[in-house]
Amino acid sequence: MFSTLPEPKPDAIIALIQAFADDPREDKVDLGVGVYKDDAGKTPVMRSVKEAERRLLARQDTKSYTKLTGNPDFVAGMQRLALGDVNERLTGAQAPGGTGALRVLFELTLRANPNARFWYSDPSWPNHQAMLTSMKVPHQSYPYFDTDTLGVKFDAMIETLDGLGPDDIVILHGCCHNPTGANLTQAQWERVTQSAQDNGWMPLVDFAYQGLGDGLEEDARGVRHMASKLSRLMIAMSCSKNFGLYRDRAGCAIVQCENAAEAALVAATLGVVNRLLYSFAPDHPASVVAEILGDPELRADWEAELGAMRDRINGLRTGLAEALRQETNSGRFDFIAEHRGMFSRLGATPAQVAAMREGGIYMVGDSRMNIAGLTSDKLRDFARAAAKAGI
Ligand code: PMP
Repeated sequence: MFSTLPEPKPDAIIALIQAFADDPREDKVDLGVGVYKDDAGKTPVMRSVKEAERRLLARQDTKSYTKLTGNPDFVAGMQRLALGDVNERLTGAQAPGGTGALRVLFELTLRANPNARFWYSDPSWPNHQAMLTSMKVPHQSYPYFDTDTLGVKFDAMIETLDGLGPDDIVILHGCCHNPTGANLTQAQWERVTQSAQDNGWMPLVDFAYQGLGDGLEEDARGVRHMASKLSRLMIAMSCSKNFGLYRDRAGCAIVQCENAAEAALVAATLGVVNRLLYSFAPDHPASVVAEILGDPELRADWEAELGAMRDRINGLRTGLAEALRQETNSGRFDFIAEHRGMFSRLGATPAQVAAMREGGIYMVGDSRMNIAGLTSDKLRDFARAAAKAGI
């Protein structure tokens, strides 16, 4: 019967990883896959993570099951990180990465409202659409990125959101929009919040890059404003990027409810959803995060490491915009310095992306580039190649 399986569509980013690996050139540059790299092109285990792991290994005396909603210290730590505080209206559950947290929140939503319809930005991280399609849940995109200005098309976005109602769930990127790097201003977050208040739709904030934009607190300003104004809100957190735990799979589904009784009901449902999908989320990476967040010394070290990663990305942004200004004699790439997060979309055509690849520079076909994949000594080469490709 398996021979009747439809051929899966190849994942563009995974195909790019393969093509890069197969390229024998020594000076090739991988700007495809979304992992942070240091100036030596490595994705090292963070110092604070290594230390927390050492402590956990020394202390752990059982591998018995935990709770279905995961490590409570981790969940509370993630709530504090996202929202600055915990309270009786907040609940949540550990999940395998940000993807797991999104899936759990999709399931929770459908149990509360089988008529729910989801909305994601155009464009968005492709897995939003792919997961909802696979779950056979109604979904649509809302206008977001303006390919002319390379910024947010806010008027069109808000017009769509103002037309939504209580069956609608809107996925918003908490910060560092993937794939465009173009983010909402605080005034725009306030206007979006007003739309949710006026029209009764519910936000689901995908928060996969906290701390990699402008800072842990700064990156949370939008979502915190929403939480302060709305009775209900969902957040999917990922520890893949800001703790560098990619393969270990730590994430957290957070739900703000109307009151404590509703929060208890949501907590019990999250436990059931976890049980049905995978029973227990992986303990190790979540306990590593809990250890870091709960220990002032480790936390300070983690914040310093995260700050260095952020500064490197933002330094590359400024440096790249400057190199492109010189090579192209124009300011049309200045948006790269304004954008935040690991990605920007260059606005190149598929033919230009292919020409860059000929030159050994690998970007996703829509010209999304992982800024953190660059190194400071490669900025000039990149700018020359982009100018030569006519971008
Ligand atoms: N949301 C967005 C916007 C992302 O970019 C990612 C990672 N690429 C995720 C969620 C999920 O990350 P993970 O499941 O690896 O934690």
